[in-house]
Amino acid sequence: MLSSLVAVLPLPIIPLKRGGAVREQNDDPIETCASDPHFNYAQGTSKWRTKALWLSGNYFFPPTYNNTLLLMSTTFEIKLPPTDLHDPEALRRAVLRQGPLPAADVGEIIIERRSIDARSSRPVFRMRVSVLGPKETFTPEAPVMDAYGDVSEKPAVVIIGCGPAGMFAALELIELGLKPIIIERGKDVQARRRSLRAIQQFGTVDPDSNYCFGEGGAGTYSDGKLYTRSLKRGNFQKTLNILAEHGAQSDILIDAHPHIGSNKLPKVVANMRATILRCGGEIRFGHRMTELERDDKDIQALIIRDAEGETYRLEAKAYIMATGHSARDVYELLHRHNVRLEAKPFALGVRIEHPQPLIDRIQYRQPEREENLPASSYKLVTQVKGRGVFSFCMCPGGLVVPAATAPGEIVVNGMSLSRRDSPYANSGTVVAVELEDLKPYEKHGVFAGLEFQKDVEQRMFKAGNGSQAAPASRLTDFTKSKISKDLPDTSYIPGLIPAPLHQILPQSIFSRLQQGVQDFGRKMKGYYTEEANVIGAESRTSSPVRIPRDQMGYQHPDLPSLYPCGEGAGFAGGILSAAMDGQNVAQAVKISLLSR
Ligand SMILES: Cc1cc2nc3c(=O)[nH]c(=O)nc-3n(C[C@H](O)[C@H](O)[C@H](O)COP(=O)(O)OP(=O)(O)OC[C@H]3O[C@@H](n4cnc5c(N)ncnc54)[C@H](O)[C@@H]3O)c2cc1C
Repeated sequence: MLSSLVAVLPLPIIPLKRGGAVREQNDDPIETCASDPHFNYAQGTSKWRTKALWLSGNYFFPPTYNNTLLLMSTTFEIKLPPTDLHDPEALRRAVLRQGPLPAADVGEIIIERRSIDARSSRPVFRMRVSVLGPKETFTPEAPVMDAYGDVSEKPAVVIIGCGPAGMFAALELIELGLKPIIIERGKDVQARRRSLRAIQQFGTVDPDSNYCFGEGGAGTYSDGKLYTRSLKRGNFQKTLNILAEHGAQSDILIDAHPHIGSNKLPKVVANMRATILRCGGEIRFGHRMTELERDDKDIQALIIRDAEGETYRLEAKAYIMATGHSARDVYELLHRHNVRLEAKPFALGVRIEHPQPLIDRIQYRQPEREENLPASSYKLVTQVKGRGVFSFCMCPGGLVVPAATAPGEIVVNGMSLSRRDSPYANSGTVVAVELEDLKPYEKHGVFAGLEFQKDVEQRMFKAGNGSQAAPASRLTDFTKSKISKDLPDTSYIPGLIPAPLHQILPQSIFSRLQQGVQDFGRKMKGYYTEEANVIGAESRTSSPVRIPRDQMGYQHPDLPSLYPCGEGAGFAGGILSAAMDGQNVAQAVKISLLSR
């Protein structure tokens, strides 16, 4: 009843959160709501959902999408063949043919959402479009950055770690009128490139500057996928807007599976740094938190070692700990000072690399990928002996990279460029590790998972040749517990070495992967092939340790000025969720400082 009422409503009126249609004549009942003093743009549109609107003599609850108010009379879904993706005329024709509006009522067309539907014989783009009337104009929303002022003289908050959690916490603090001081052990994005080259070419891992440590954290030289299952944990639209305002391609605002790519991310990160500095925040590269001072009640100060090796004391009212899940020394430091930590489940396995054209043929059912179709991806999951086995962090058209953070270990991960045009598709393929699986490591207490991870990474290194060349196997040999005679081509620059992965991996992991990948082959015909490489080890999926915090105030339960944040604290798993966690923590800091 409601949907039929909405469908016949002739009003194309959309006070969108991300900008909106403004009617020339102010006879629009929604105008009244838009100027409603209870409507809070900063908090999104949740109040809209409980507000009935007066339209054409009837009350109804307006549909919303991505925190955006939409009316079905002007918003609908269309399909476009890939060849028409960049053709505005084809888009208009599709709107007229597939939408409910006569040509005279169709003005500007706004694409709200875009995804690929590969279920039919020919893949299509599905788009949710909002159509404005001929006399309506689209008003873009004010940039988030407009809310940033000068905070140079405001109370300081210390953030340890310049990854997504730390950077987004800093921007949120600025918006809230507080001064962020970021301490980052690694280098800025430009200088960091040299460290990455040293890993790739010479196998030399700098423990302070690598694929995980440095400006932008682990997110900078990554695939830059921007989706998360924890959308409810924060304002993801605001996070995407901030990235777009700092130079990320605007496609991320509409794509169902947005990604940025490693060629663009460093620039975006450098622009975010410029914003933080311009507003009076500070970022200290090459500075590492090495110690802390505490009493029974709280932290008194952090001890920082600068790039020249000098140490200094840093005092603040709040310390945001956003050091990521690879900073093992930080967990050890906290443990040494009796800061309560908890062990948590995680996942561990391998990275599997296929030729991208093979994955495209399977997913798109085309001999060759059609123009404008992106490199295809997959998501696979199965259960083996009571544990989940699943693909993780898929990088279509990407590269496998060495992501170790210390000499003597091998860790692999995946990244891609914005065009995702490498001839390889790689994906982490991992097994869930529960705390009860860590019995042999029990003596390490809260660090059982961390020691298990470390063990696997060091065994991978020992199976190699002393460089960052990674142990590997053909997928079909892997399941037969055989060492491969030779290996398919790879994107992994340090190179691969045929190795007995079935012996190097813990049996509990290997046996599940062995069956899991064969299950995947049954679900996705063509996946199980000798053309694929299995590469060890994908061990840094998420943190094996949690730094606990209060659910409301985000403070450590024993130390009120300590705010565990992001992936390293165990409250995020990816760029977007870490960024949103940073924003939430910054808001909690502000509330706490106000109440003191
Ligand atoms: C190669 C690769 C590809 C990835 N691809 C994706 C992807 O496509 N999509 C996605 O969502 N996620 C991806 N991830 C995961 C994602 O990058 C992380 O989830 C995210 O960066 C976590 O953010 P964070 O801010 O919590 O921690 P981090 O990004 O790990 O940042 C922590 C920062 O703290 C600094 N630090 C640590 N210890 C100290 C100390 N003692 N003193 C000072 N500074 C310190 C580190 O140098 C680091 O810069 C990828 C990760 C890697 C390694």
